[in-house]
Amino acid sequence: MSDSYIQTDVEKVVSGGFCVGCGGCASVDSGISMQFEETGVYRPIFSAITDAVVDHVCPFSNKGPHENELSHRHAGLPYEAELGPYISLKAGYQKDVSARMASSSGGGATWILKKLFERGYIDRVIHVKETNDSAQFKYSVSESISEVEKGAKTRYYPIEISEVINFVLNNDGKYAFVGVPCFVKTIKRLCNVNEVINARIKFTAAIFCGHLKSAAFGESLAWQLGVKPDQIKKLDFRYKISTLPANDYGFEVVDQDNQTHISPMYKLLGKDWGMGAFRLKSCDFCDDIVGELADVSFGDGWLDKYKKDSKGTNLIIIRNEIIKELFEEGAVANEFHLEDVSAAEIVQSQNASYRHRRNGVEYRVQTYEKSEKWYPKKRKFYGLSNSSFLDKLNWNYRSWYSKKTHEVFLKAKEKNDITVYTDFVKRGSFGAKILRKFIGLYNRFK
Ligand SMILES: Cc1cc2nc3c(=O)[nH]c(=O)nc-3n(C[C@H](O)[C@H](O)[C@H](O)COP(=O)(O)OP(=O)(O)OC[C@H]3O[C@@H](n4cnc5c(N)ncnc54)[C@H](O)[C@@H]3O)c2cc1C
Ligand code: SF4
Ligand code: SF4
Repeated sequence: MSDSYIQTDVEKVVSGGFCVGCGGCASVDSGISMQFEETGVYRPIFSAITDAVVDHVCPFSNKGPHENELSHRHAGLPYEAELGPYISLKAGYQKDVSARMASSSGGGATWILKKLFERGYIDRVIHVKETNDSAQFKYSVSESISEVEKGAKTRYYPIEISEVINFVLNNDGKYAFVGVPCFVKTIKRLCNVNEVINARIKFTAAIFCGHLKSAAFGESLAWQLGVKPDQIKKLDFRYKISTLPANDYGFEVVDQDNQTHISPMYKLLGKDWGMGAFRLKSCDFCDDIVGELADVSFGDGWLDKYKKDSKGTNLIIIRNEIIKELFEEGAVANEFHLEDVSAAEIVQSQNASYRHRRNGVEYRVQTYEKSEKWYPKKRKFYGLSNSSFLDKLNWNYRSWYSKKTHEVFLKAKEKNDITVYTDFVKRGSFGAKILRKFIGLYNRFK
């Protein structure tokens, strides 16, 4: 290594554990490749000194533009600190019941991609689909409406974009990209540094994001249904159960003998989203919940007024005039049910995420600042409520628990015994319950 070597932010992102495994760096630097690690996450491997351009692409580097700077194209639109800029806020679902059932929520994401296709605005979609290889799901390019339909449903699974970005660079076309907020940020940063990608990716759609999980999440659920990790053929994280509310969805696994196993999620250990089993550390340093940079964002409509319909309803944040028109035309043609929803309702539906990712991020940033260690800089939000010492204890506890689940599940695999993991989850949940009681009492008497 030469004396003039300067460590890139991307290397600090990886060594500090802040990497989400998006593959943005590997898309622009041939000295970096993505590797699927034993813990079930993607990590970049550096085989040469990295090109400084990677720091302008990585969503956790401190060198590229942040979310507010990247969303300049929407300047002048109404703006909420929680939702970013927007033209229109809606709730809705596809009227075609089988298409709605084949999706995670109301099927809004798949519907708008199909419409963009039909109208010739795009001819390719980059999104996450099932695969036949060892990774259950991958970023893939769909080139027809029927392929787009096959990509529906939420995959709580690690994915990376370097392969598909390589495809975009080598194949002219009009692309739409679908991703969780940090992946959309990577795409926006990529567009800033590469004019071919900028010219070809015409639309971005974000899906709201609580956090990303390692591949161990699906494995742990399947194992509880008697299907060991090496016996998994197919996973569905969002199986709709007609007798239960939309937020009480099921989990389905098909094993290598083509036997199907289904359970409501609430019966499985480690499903508690707030506890964050298998959460990546990057997600503790992320303040974009809804995908503020995207042309349109889709979330689960788990407000009381929509939850009871198990078929699912989307919350939709529209930031692009073409997309707004397509939805409005769909409503008039009776293809898409569309109704107004307020910013406050959308925020309310993601309350837990905002606490963890705005107040919680502020606390974690302060902790890192005091320790003088490198960390990804975050935007400053004004008017956040004060966090008590018990809130902080709770966040620390959950971060510790998330980190431990990765290690404990590896041990369970080594010992070929799922109870190593499920016993840990039971103890971890008990600890969290006691903490919640203390927080409740403190809030009552403070
Ligand atoms: C990791 C993760 C966490 C989420 N957390 C929340 C949350 O906290 N709150 C909330 O309201 N909603 C959350 N969502 C989004 C929600 O689950 C639905 O995906 C969203 O409401 C769109 O529903 P739909 O019916 O319109 O999508 P569909 O019509 O079913 O289409 C989903 C689209 O998303 C793509 N996709 C699926 N998985 C991924 C992935 N991992 N990365 C990128 N693209 C993917 C599919 O390929 C498809 O194009 C999360 C999704 C993911 C993947
Ligand atoms: S977050 Fe993405 S771009 Fe940043 S180091 Fe990890 S894989 Fe590379
Ligand atoms: S929580 Fe943030 S960092 Fe984590 S996957 Fe979602 S968008 Fe990315």
